[in-house]
This record gives sequence, C-alpha cells and structure tokens, in this order.
Amino acid sequence: MADLLEGFRYREGHLYCEGIALSDLAADYGTPLYVYSQAVLSDRYERVDRAFAAVPHLICYSLKANGNLSLGRHLARLGAGADVVSGGELYRALKMGIPGSRIVYSSVGKTTDEIAYALRSGILMFNVESAGELEAIDKEAKLLGTRASVALRVNPDVDPGTHPYITTGMKKYKFGIPTEQVMPLYRQAASSANLDPVGIQMHLGSQLVSVAPIVEAAEKLIALVKQLAGEGINLRYLDLGGGMGIRYRDETPEGPDALARLVIPLLQGLNLTLILEPGRFIVGNAGALVARVLYVKDNGTKKFVIVDAAMNDLIRPTLYDAYHAIVPVTERRGSEKVDVVGPICESGDFFAHDRELPPLQAGDLVAIMGAGAYGFSMASNYNARPRAAEVLVNGSSSHLVRRREKYEDLVRAEEME
Ligand code: PLP
Repeated sequence: MADLLEGFRYREGHLYCEGIALSDLAADYGTPLYVYSQAVLSDRYERVDRAFAAVPHLICYSLKANGNLSLGRHLARLGAGADVVSGGELYRALKMGIPGSRIVYSSVGKTTDEIAYALRSGILMFNVESAGELEAIDKEAKLLGTRASVALRVNPDVDPGTHPYITTGMKKYKFGIPTEQVMPLYRQAASSANLDPVGIQMHLGSQLVSVAPIVEAAEKLIALVKQLAGEGINLRYLDLGGGMGIRYRDETPEGPDALARLVIPLLQGLNLTLILEPGRFIVGNAGALVARVLYVKDNGTKKFVIVDAAMNDLIRPTLYDAYHAIVPVTERRGSEKVDVVGPICESGDFFAHDRELPPLQAGDLVAIMGAGAYGFSMASNYNARPRAAEVLVNGSSSHLVRRREKYEDLVRAEEME
C-alpha cells in the first residue's frame, strides 16, 4: 500500500498529501476534490530526466494525461516540453509557458486551422499520421510562407500488452503510418520546399508494464533512420512516445531506468536527440480524488457506498474497468465488501466493485488513488455535474489551481432561442 500512496501517507491515522491533511483540504475546498503532490510530479519528471542524462533528450510531457496549467507550468520550469494532440492542448501548452520549440504535435485528425496555429506557434515538429496529412501540412506551410518540421509517426505493429483501448502501435488501430509506407513519404517530404523532415516518432500504447515492446519498436525506427541517412535524409529526433506504466494495484512496471539501459546503447554513433512523451508516469501517482460518502445502502444483496464523486469526475473504472485503490482519509479498523459508486444515473458509474474496505459512514472521506492521469482531463459535465476543483500541494502549502465549477458555468456557452 505504501507504494500506492507515493506522496500521500498516513500520519497518526490521517491521510496527508505532503504536509497537509486531506481532511483539511476537503474542509477548505469541498469535495469532490483532486489533490496533487508537487513533490511527486518533480520526482517523476526528474527520474526520467536522470535516466536519460547520458544522451541529448527532451521530455515532452503529454498534456492529455492532465492539462492543468499550474501542473504544466511546474513541469515547464523543470525543463519539460509538451506533447499535444489538438489546437486546444497547444493553446494550453503555450499558456503553461512551454515554448513552441519544445512542442510536438500528434493526432490522426489535425484540421487545417490546427495546422496553421501550430505553424504560427513554431512547434518543434508535427508527428504526421497519414499521407493526406503530410499534404495538408505542405499546403498550409506554403500558404503561410514557412517550412514545417515534420516527423512521421510510424505504426511499428508491436503489441505492447496493455488494454486494447489504450493500444495504438498495432496495424488494427488507426494510428501512425505502416513501416512499409514510410520511405516514400520521407522522400516526398525531403523533396518539398515547404517541409523539413527532422524526426521519426512512435507511440505504442499506454500503461505498459514492460519496456521490451518499446525497445523492439525503437529498433525498427532506428533501422529506418539508418536507411534514410543512406539516402541523404538525416533525421535529428527519435521520438519514442509515452506509455510507461505506473502501479495502480500490484503491477511492477519497469521504469525509465530499465528503458534507458536498453535504449541508450541503440543510439550510439547516431546524431539523434531522443524525445519521450510520458504522461501517466509523471502525473498518475501524483494525484488523488477525494470524495465524501453521502450514503451507505444495503439492498440485501450488496452494500453500496455512495460518494459525491462520479464517473464524470473519473471515468477510468467505467471506461477501462480500471482499478484504483480506495482508502479512507481517516484510518478505520475492520473490513467489509462494498461497491463504491457515484450519484450518476448509469450502472457503469462505479469506482470499485466488491472491494474490501473498512466500514464507512455518511460524512466519511475516501481518497481514490492514482487519479492524477486521465482523471480530470477526461472529466465531463454529464448529469449536469459541475466539474471538481483541483488543488496543488507543495509541502505545507496548498493552491487552488482550478476552482470548482458553478451551475452558471454549465450554461455559459449556451444561448436560448
Ligand atoms: N504520446 C502519444 C502520441 C499518446 O497518444 C499518448 C497517450 O495516449 C501519450 C504520449 C502519453 O501516454 P502515457 O500517458 O501512457 O505516457
């Protein structure tokens, strides 16, 4: 359990994030509440940075995991770049203070408006996912009188051994360009006055517990880099995407050190800057979702702990049947089997099924752990629920980094006919 808590720990029976009791944060900011530990964020970023210190590298934090401006700004100050997948994420990354020169842009469906915005922002490179997109970028660059730096996102057809919904680097999925179609597209890019082929990229999938598939795919990309160099197309960036897994339950994911040990030797003699796009690894264990128990009900078959957070706040259990550890904010003795559910009108609105938890009562607080990644960033207003507040803890100080939404926020963009 200690591993699962990371920057969160019990002191005299009360769960703390760094130096602040979660019950104090809940009293100050209300619930449901996302709480993030700045120390964990820094530690995770630095672990990746240190692992690859021997080679030129850039860590492009994947904003989709958690796009909060304050979290991103903290990572930017540590030296992070950004991996973005939409104009909106590009806007967020720039707001965080991440310069365009440190931003890479993937997505199978970039619109011309988004391409133009990225060109005007001087991004490091587009990770191009189709022949059609390469043409669209070419056209847009010409129109704007600029040259677009591009990498082709290769689909290396390697199975990363994770949930199908978060697997990307296999041919049955929509992402990237198959290996055998890559060479002609690089030639096309190299012969265009509006395109500068600077890199090659891949992203296999998310929550990978083994680094072996990343290494296997990296070898395929490096073979392409060498083949391209043979034709006079010299790439400068090798982008291996994100995907490093974290512990949610009892997984023992291989971390950045294991990846570095296998990848660094592959780079010998090549003049490449390595780019990594970690999201979950950096922010996943840095966050908890704190919720208050509203009711406990026993229907004769099951006992339900109904909390004030719901699938609109954290959809991972619903979407991927994902496991999140749930712990009482104030330590309790005993154990009983319960379902932990939210108030939304869907049977899929749950955080845990048949989970052994200490007996809980209305008013108690629980912390849903490992909620920093793909938590708030996937939150919605379903059932007209205002989205939760987010708090960043640094030692014994806390900062409200996103206020709780109000009812007025729910209708702000609407106009009544
Ligand atoms: N890069 C790309 C292109 C992605 O699609 C994703 C996630 O889907 C990531 C990086 C981040 O992945 P993770 O959070 O698993 O590190």
